[in-house]
Amino acid sequence: MAIRRKRKSRTTAPATVLFTQRTNEDGKKQLCCYAQCTYGGTSFGPVWGHSPASVAKCLAELTAKCDCGRKYHKHRYTEGVPIRNKK
Ligand SMILES: [Zn+2]
Repeated sequence: MAIRRKRKSRTTAPATVLFTQRTNEDGKKQLCCYAQCTYGGTSFGPVWGHSPASVAKCLAELTAKCDCGRKYHKHRYTEGVPIRNKK
């Protein structure tokens, strides 16, 4: 049996992105997402929206906050279901 080698990156940490909803200041339900670093356990959120841009922003903010030392956080795991509005 070959042991599958896991590529560990020193620059990128995997992150879990949670897609959920939250009530905003006006009492309306808004889509938002959270990101959590798999290594450091640091989380950031909410960032409003479920769009790829929202996720990217959430991960960027997580990187600024997280102390795991990686330069990037990558969306690896997903919790919840992303809702993308059609317009
Ligand atoms: Zn991290």
